[in-house]
Amino acid sequence: MDSHIIDQLGRPIKDLRISVIDQCNFRCTYCMPAEIFGPDYAFLPKEELLSFDEIVRLAEIFAKFGVEKIRLTGGEPLMRKDLADLVGRLKDIDGIKDIAVTTNAVFLVRQAQKLKDAGLDRVNISLDAIEDHVFQETNGRGIKTKPVLKGIEAARDAGLKIKINMVVKKGMNEDQILPMARYFKGTGDTLRFIEFMEVGNHNGWNMDAVVSKKWIIEQIHQEMPLVPQDPSYYGEVASRYRYEDGSGEIGVISSVTEAFCSSCTRARLSADGNLFTCLFASSGYDLKTMLREGESDETITDYLLAIWTGRTDQYSVDRAQGKPMKENKIEMSYIGG
Ligand code: SAM
Ligand code: SF4
Ligand code: SF4
Repeated sequence: MDSHIIDQLGRPIKDLRISVIDQCNFRCTYCMPAEIFGPDYAFLPKEELLSFDEIVRLAEIFAKFGVEKIRLTGGEPLMRKDLADLVGRLKDIDGIKDIAVTTNAVFLVRQAQKLKDAGLDRVNISLDAIEDHVFQETNGRGIKTKPVLKGIEAARDAGLKIKINMVVKKGMNEDQILPMARYFKGTGDTLRFIEFMEVGNHNGWNMDAVVSKKWIIEQIHQEMPLVPQDPSYYGEVASRYRYEDGSGEIGVISSVTEAFCSSCTRARLSADGNLFTCLFASSGYDLKTMLREGESDETITDYLLAIWTGRTDQYSVDRAQGKPMKENKIEMSYIGG
């Protein structure tokens, strides 16, 4: 198959993000606020989650389309039992060059080495503050930083490449930008700041709560001078900066203030097998039913081809231009970021 299938805006498909579970052990206020995702919240029943066999079958089809990178996410992906088995099976697929996991790291202490041995290349670890009192508020469960820092240590010991993701939200943790930068400078881990996004319907997003890339860079640059870097590949979402003194680099994901839709090469698969072509979509394409009704690879391939070649999504650009936005967007914990 032609592996350079492009959408209506000329974008190839390169990355597949797979949410393997919609549940999480955290309740981050900007993602799964505890007042909404409480004890009565209806998470997906187990039988609705794609099995590893189903995920691998779809990944094989996507690899034929040109997908080279797979990221496993959630909810909290390490809550899915035997995730390392899935990593090993995905790594064996022809054309898949890179496998990553996005996690809050709490379960990495037990799983980092197993994941690395199975073929995992990288982990992105979410940590929104280095001071306990702030982190305990942001994660909504009163969890201190120690279990996350131990998870980071385990990932380092296992030899995994590490990026640390910090969502910055005004009034929540902007006072942690400098302490986080100081903490990770010189460790070899890349710290990435993420602008607070309006994913889902419950995180109370408004533009005033967004801390811009520009402001973040100014704060750090004043104390720890930075030099901008070129992107390392087409479609890289983070703007990169290295420390002038050679002690590493940081990134900023400016999804709100500088949209990067024009090079968005990502498709997203929810834990129950719906395909989304944009993080801010309100509906997906049901691949699970096709799998479970015994459709052939050819039929699924044709369906995917029609979806990707018809894709026009550029939500962040539209928002910046003031176009009316969709209601009922999917939740971040369902689609995985
Ligand atoms: N539980 C894992 C974790 O937190 O790393 C994986 C899933 S989480 C939904 C994936 C990423 O989305 C995390 O880096 C998280 O910080 C980010 N995220 C969640 N809600 C967000 C929001 N409203 N704005 C920006 N990033 C968000
Ligand atoms: Fe869980 Fe990750 Fe969402 Fe936090 S950001 S609630 S850890 S899924
Ligand atoms: Fe891609 Fe949609 Fe995000 Fe734009 S808004 S970068 S199209 S996911």
